[in-house]
Amino acid sequence: MTSVYESQLLAGHILDWRLIRSIARILGTELQQVVPLALENNRLHIGCFRQPDSAYRAQLSGRLKSDLRVSLLPETERNLWLQLCQENLDAQVLAATQLTVVTNGDQPDEQQISLKVQGLLMRALESRASDIHLEPMPEGLLVRYRVDGLLKEVELLPVEWQKLIVARVKVMADLDIANQRTPQDGRSTQTLGKTTLDLRVSTLPCLHGEKAVIRLLNKSNRFMSLEEIGLVEQTLEVYTKWLDRAQGLILITGPTGSGKTSTLYASLMRLLNPNKNIVTIEDPVEYQLSSVNQVQVNPKAGLTFAGGLRSILRQDPDIIMVGEIRDPETAQTVFQAAVTGHLVLATIHTDDAPSTVNRLIYLGVEPYLISAALLGVVAQRLVRRACPRCATYFSPTARDLTRLGLSDSLPQTDEVRWVKPTGCEACQGVGFRGREGIFEVMPVDNIIRQMIHGQSSVMDMKAHLRQLGLPTLGEAGLQKVMAGKTTIEEILRVVSL
Ligand SMILES: [Zn+2]
Repeated sequence: MTSVYESQLLAGHILDWRLIRSIARILGTELQQVVPLALENNRLHIGCFRQPDSAYRAQLSGRLKSDLRVSLLPETERNLWLQLCQENLDAQVLAATQLTVVTNGDQPDEQQISLKVQGLLMRALESRASDIHLEPMPEGLLVRYRVDGLLKEVELLPVEWQKLIVARVKVMADLDIANQRTPQDGRSTQTLGKTTLDLRVSTLPCLHGEKAVIRLLNKSNRFMSLEEIGLVEQTLEVYTKWLDRAQGLILITGPTGSGKTSTLYASLMRLLNPNKNIVTIEDPVEYQLSSVNQVQVNPKAGLTFAGGLRSILRQDPDIIMVGEIRDPETAQTVFQAAVTGHLVLATIHTDDAPSTVNRLIYLGVEPYLISAALLGVVAQRLVRRACPRCATYFSPTARDLTRLGLSDSLPQTDEVRWVKPTGCEACQGVGFRGREGIFEVMPVDNIIRQMIHGQSSVMDMKAHLRQLGLPTLGEAGLQKVMAGKTTIEEILRVVSL
């Protein structure tokens, strides 16, 4: 029988409270002797303060229905562990506690590195992270996750692990591990339990070593409807009218990470129809849609947005989705498509809906073509949703409103209830869980058409939208605050009021 010790296996490990809770249900008070560390491929890593004998080990393995790997934990950690057990396994305390695992100073072996990377992916998935950042620091490799748009520190791995972890990630994505001096990018598909993850890996040489970022695309995620992404009654009604048209252009705008792709996919899901030919050109294809023909942009192979779009137009399409308009050639081809009997959806980078017109003119599209083809523009941002489990409410005072410069725009009554983030287990102590969009829609009506011809100012267009009773981004944000969906600070973080 091999040694029961696997020292340094999980150095610097942060406790996985979900795992611990499930093991606690089986072991009861015996948990005081056994520290569950990680579960990977039905192999359970546990820590013990004393060397367990082989009989106990076998018995434990049977009860936990897993292959066991045992690490010896220093006796000095025992009191901390007992204290945690007594505090009834408080999730937040556990999540913030680092246990030191004995290390013998050797380099970790390949299997340990591979398990660690799997563990990082697994935990990212459980935390609903969109990206994993692996950042070389003088003290070690800092691991951070982006959850609901914000980065948070997860753990610091020892310096000896730094290059090995990054190299492992590069191998997964088929990158050249010998080359650490130039930025690289690649992709990989990993299956963790029932989940299939598409990974996009990129590396960048930094001062203290090579940094890697892994973007996680969860293929098992189901698509959200337009209602679920945060479109409210009034804006939804305006927007869906455009989707019902047979021809014309719908533009979705906002900065990177503002949820434009989710809006496009939700729109396509609504448009799905066996009698229509729907084709997309994307960079990258983020999610696969059944009964939609998706084309991946590949400039190295000569397949650009503009070129791809021209080929799509020869394939008898009804509805076309163009990932992004970023150059004059694509802009002009998109408009040609939109005036020749196709419904086109695309994204473009601008701050708000009215500014899109100027951006298009800057990209060389003639004003007459804009007013003829454009059905409307949606501008959007994402805000974090207050966690419904732990939300508490308060009525803003006159002082709150003045401090925020809102005394004119919002009524002050005792009936107004704003949400205050608290933090619980469901939201990992953050007070927010998930995100939704705030939307500004600009329908191209006769007046806007005249304004496009006359190249009117953004201010004039905004004034017209106000006359139509359509909210600006800021006003849409305030509506979500008044509805108790999110906080005013969260709105102010993404838009100016
Ligand atoms: Zn909560």
